[in-house]
Formats: sequence, C-alpha cells, structure tokens
Amino acid sequence: MKLFDTRLGELREFEPQQRGVVGMYVCGPTVQSEPHIGHLRSALVYDLLAGWLRASGNKVTVVRNVTDIDDKVLEKARETGTQYWELAHRNEALFAADYRRLNLELPSVEPRATGHIPQMLALIEKLVDSGHAYQVEGSADVYFDTSSWSRYGELTHQKLEDMESEETGGGKRAAQDFALWKSAKPGEPEGAAWESRFGRGRPGWHIECSAMATHYLGESFDIHGGGLDLRFPHHENELAQSSAAGHGFANYWIHNGLVSIAGQKMSKSLGNTVSSSDLFALATPQAVRYYLASAHYRSVLDYQPGVLQEAEAALERLHGFLARAQRELAETQYSEMDHGAGLPDAFVAEMNDDLNIPAALAVIHDSVTSGNTALDEQQLKQAAEHRSEVHKMLSVLGLAPDQWSSGASEEHQALDALVRELIAERNRAREEKNFEVADRIRDQLLASGIELSDSASGTHWSLS
Ligand SMILES: [Zn+2]
Repeated sequence: MKLFDTRLGELREFEPQQRGVVGMYVCGPTVQSEPHIGHLRSALVYDLLAGWLRASGNKVTVVRNVTDIDDKVLEKARETGTQYWELAHRNEALFAADYRRLNLELPSVEPRATGHIPQMLALIEKLVDSGHAYQVEGSADVYFDTSSWSRYGELTHQKLEDMESEETGGGKRAAQDFALWKSAKPGEPEGAAWESRFGRGRPGWHIECSAMATHYLGESFDIHGGGLDLRFPHHENELAQSSAAGHGFANYWIHNGLVSIAGQKMSKSLGNTVSSSDLFALATPQAVRYYLASAHYRSVLDYQPGVLQEAEAALERLHGFLARAQRELAETQYSEMDHGAGLPDAFVAEMNDDLNIPAALAVIHDSVTSGNTALDEQQLKQAAEHRSEVHKMLSVLGLAPDQWSSGASEEHQALDALVRELIAERNRAREEKNFEVADRIRDQLLASGIELSDSASGTHWSLS
C-alpha cells in the first residue's frame, strides 16, 4: 500500500515496523464544544484507514486521544460558568455518540490528557535535563528550545526564521519556542493544575500528544494522523520534542483535508458551521458516512446543500442491488451469499493507492451495474458473484446493510415489526377510504408514544 507521507512530501510504500502489526496515533478532538462535520470527517478517515489495514491482514492498534484540558477548554468553561471537567466530559459523550452513529470502530484506547500528566512531566523533565527545554526564571513555565533542535521545521518544510510564532513574551527566548508546561494562573480553577518540580501548572497541548502516543505505542510507531490544520504548529512541535527526547516517534505522517462549506472556510465568525446534528437531521447515518467518505481523504470536502440526498440516492442504488439480488436469487442454488469471496483486484488497487476511496466506490458502482444487467439477463451465477463482491467491498467501507441493523436492540426490532404491521393495516384502510380505521390506528399508536410521519418515501415511525 502507498500512503502520502507529509514529512517526505511524497507517496511512500507503507511498511509497518513489525510485519503485520500497525500502531496508529490519531489526534482526537479538543472537547470544548459539540462535534461538527470536520471532526466527523477526520475520525472517519482514520477509521477507514485502520479498517483497510485490518482487511489487508494487519493487527491494528488505534490510539485516539481526547484533549480535555487546554486553553480553549478552560476559556469555554469560564464563559459558560461550568467546571472544565464537566464541560469536557459532556462534550466527550457527544463525540462518542456521534462516532457510534457513524459506525466507527472503537479505537483500542481513548486516552484523556488529564489522565497522563505523569507521562507528560517525565517527557518534559527529560527535555529540560538534556538541554532541549528551559524553565523561565521565577515561573513554572517551561518552553521547548527550538534553537537547540536543528531539524525543527522538518515536518512542514519550513526554516526557523520564516515561521510564524504562537505568541511572544513571557520569558520565551525565541518567538518559535513553545510551551511544554504552563504555570497555574490566578483565576484558573484549582483542579486545572498539577504539582511538578517546575511548580504548579498544566501541560501545553503539544506535549500531551507526544506523551500519550509514546505511552501506548512505544517510542517509535507507524502512523501519526490528524487534520491538515494540525500540521503546524501542533505536529511540528510533537515531532521536534519527541525526536529531541531520542524517540523515533511516527514513521508516517498522514493528514486529512479539511471541510469547506459551499466553497467557504468553515468558521465560527462566518456562522457557517455545520454541526453533526445538522447532518444527522438531514440524512441517515449510512448516507452521512457515505458522503464523508466519498471525497479523497487528502482533498477538501466541500459541503453543499443537496449533497446528502445525493449520497442517500447513491447508497440506495448499491443497497437496492443487494436487496434485488437477495430476492431474485432466493429460490435458486445461489440463495446463500458467498462470504468467502475475495475482493476484486480493481478495488484492492484503489484502496492501496493512498486510500483512494472515491475510485473504490466507482468500482462498487460498476459491479452493481454489471450485477443488475446479469439479473436482467437471468445470468444467475454472475449476478451472485457481483452480489458477494459488492457486499464484501461495502463491508470494508463500513457501508454494508447488515453492518447497520445489528445496533438495534431486540426490543426495538420487536417493536418495529409490530408498528410496521399496524402501518400496513393503516395503509390498507386508507386505500379503502376507511379513514375511521386509519385514524384509530394512528391515534392508538400516538397514545402509546409512537408518532407516524407520512412522506413521499412512505410512512416512518418514531417515539414521540
Ligand atoms: Zn495531537
């Protein structure tokens, strides 16, 4: 498989450091607010990458952190009069619910920054002791000394003197130096600071990821992923401090493209943020997953009105073929799906080409076209082959129909069967213009807390 490695700026053959075993660290969200479309896209990209590496026979460990303390979290907590840990915890739960809705595989571990302060301090101490970091006199502030690390800038191919700095002043020796440990400030909550040999304080954002990645994956591991906006300074700084500490750190640096909204950068000031609840209100979770996966992971995903309906229609076409094949092959010798069937070479080639999912989806659509033609022409063997193939490819992308129904509880399934039967009875009554019966069924359901809504695609029910 080839992957685009940001550090080398080119496609590289992917080889894990240990054959068949992959360790991947993904920068997770800073949980100061609810998830938006960009968060979901980023999480899905690494879910698809991990899924493909697993489908290719690797054992994959995924570490996706939760930044539950940093400036942004503390500021939002102050604004809203909440404890920062309550704000972080509540938002983390919203992220988890959306990840589940999107059918993302649970990472191997989701470490929270606040749970790994000792690991961060150990790394900071190592950097100070080896002369790559310094403490500001009369303060607990510790900075990474960028002048001590000649490779600084290697990830984003920048020279030290051309770089923009985060902030200046406060005892920093150079504008590009960045905070490893920030002293506790008056007005900050008591619980947002920890004792250390430098004094009371809290970690800088960058050191959090370096420490957690190394704690779970070792000093050297295979893949580090995150959004393109994290390349600089976040990932540049992670790489510098970990390398300066003597760690091999990540072997491949993968970055996913960002999301734009109708051609514009998504930002709070423009007021064009698309939240995950906006997305899930407009389409099924399957269609949201299809849509978010449909652009190449390195390109900008431009959100426009109507794109989810297009995704829904495209997915319906794929699922429609599977349902049709199931129906038309039911009474034949091909009634059983061949789960042992392999993936088509074209699909494998596209997935191995820097995870080219748009092209892989085109392979699935082609197979559906051929499968439908085979059914039209009663070529059952070919139709059955396409059915197995399509199902297998969709499974790799987390889009096969049977990967979504299993989430429903047995109670839900039983209730669904009952309500559907009543909906069918109501439809019959309406056809016969027996509106008394039709209304009685609707009212009975409503009295039990079940609401019906009629639309062009049929009648759907939900708990009222
Ligand atoms: Zn990070």
